[in-house]
Amino acid sequence: MNAYTKSVLAMLTEKYPWEKEYIQSVAEVFKSIAPVLDSNPEYQNNRILEQLVEPDRTISFRVPWKDDQGRIQVNTGYRVEFSNVLGPYKGGLRFHASVTQSIIKCLGFEQIFKNALTGLLLGGGKGGSDFNPRGKSDNEIMNFCQSFMLELSRHIGASTDVPAGDIGVGTREIGYLFGMYRRITKSFKGVLTGKGITWGGSYLRPEATGYGIVYFAEELLKNVEDDIEGKTVTVSGFGNVAWGVVKKVNELGGKVVTLSGPDGFIHDPEGITGEKVDYMLKLRLSGNDVVKDYADKFNVDFYKDQRPWVIPCDIAFPCATQNELDLDDAKALVKNNVKCLVEGANLPVTLEGMEFLEKSDIMYAPAKACNAGGVACSCFEMAQNATFMNWTEEEVDNRLHQVMKHIHDQCYETSCEFNKKGNYIFGANVAGFRRVADAILDQGLS
Ligand code: GLU
Repeated sequence: MNAYTKSVLAMLTEKYPWEKEYIQSVAEVFKSIAPVLDSNPEYQNNRILEQLVEPDRTISFRVPWKDDQGRIQVNTGYRVEFSNVLGPYKGGLRFHASVTQSIIKCLGFEQIFKNALTGLLLGGGKGGSDFNPRGKSDNEIMNFCQSFMLELSRHIGASTDVPAGDIGVGTREIGYLFGMYRRITKSFKGVLTGKGITWGGSYLRPEATGYGIVYFAEELLKNVEDDIEGKTVTVSGFGNVAWGVVKKVNELGGKVVTLSGPDGFIHDPEGITGEKVDYMLKLRLSGNDVVKDYADKFNVDFYKDQRPWVIPCDIAFPCATQNELDLDDAKALVKNNVKCLVEGANLPVTLEGMEFLEKSDIMYAPAKACNAGGVACSCFEMAQNATFMNWTEEEVDNRLHQVMKHIHDQCYETSCEFNKKGNYIFGANVAGFRRVADAILDQGLS
């Protein structure tokens, strides 16, 4: 860090001492960008960092809803509209018991740079609620989504702010949210992405995040004239991102041997293929949030309250949640000669784990670069909605491939420009930051 980044971080820590996750995400970006700030004093003269760390607006609201017993429940909803210098605010909604304003700001800050890296016209935002979908009935989910949209509808719009899914929000929730938006506003617009294919969704949106992550891994391996075929792969999580990764790794001839949940992880040395991949969808829809059922059904080992990073592999894809891979996990992976670590979840590695991995010889790529395929496909959905047209699956896949290659090359070239060849964390932070900062400079006081 340099004096400028240190002073802005100190100001932020003093102002929001309780927003630990948010401050962690800012520190992570600031760690990389000092050389760019030093070589371009215009950024400091125009107080770009001060402008960036304060969202355009932070909306928080009450979400009252009725459960199946007729009792009134109250949750908190959030939408943080961080930056729209590069396009409409764009980012998912997370419904999870762990959601706080700090988590949403942390994810929203990341989203600005992730979206910038795609090269598309996408600003950064994030939202969600501390509503816990675990064990809720379909009716309760609908009640909650409708109440959430009653307030959210005041803030979003096809060219202002376009939310999508994230943890706890899939096609079903997007359906209930979209239906309520349509009723409130009397309009059918691409105001949410991740919609069902028959009512405005895009081909491959459910798979896009996972596929994009694997396309990024392919680009990494190409640098050493290698590919996915025959590789042993560990994956954490069992949700949408993990599912897309498993499908694409199988297609490319790799073998996925783990999945995890909040209850522990399963080890399936034969590989997660065929009906087991479909079972991942059933597990998710069951709403139980446990992976042990997989072990029971397919008769494989289950490791209660443990994480899959102790299992030897060539490529590791953490696809569950933030801070799910710590320093000890990172050491275990390196000890077992992992070749690549490709982040699927947002911010899955702790700061200590990250520092250790950056110093090791493995190819390590951060989520803001590798998991941008989801939001890129959301942008394709917006483009299709704006023209009332549908692209074919092949067209979407080609464009997704192009975006992932563009992100990879940008990160790699930026790392070389600053004599940090192959440091993708540095490359992603600097390339993303430069695009946003330059747009702020071009457009004047933001
Ligand atoms: N929640 C996803 C992400 O973290 C997708 C966001 C979107 O499609 O807007 O990037």
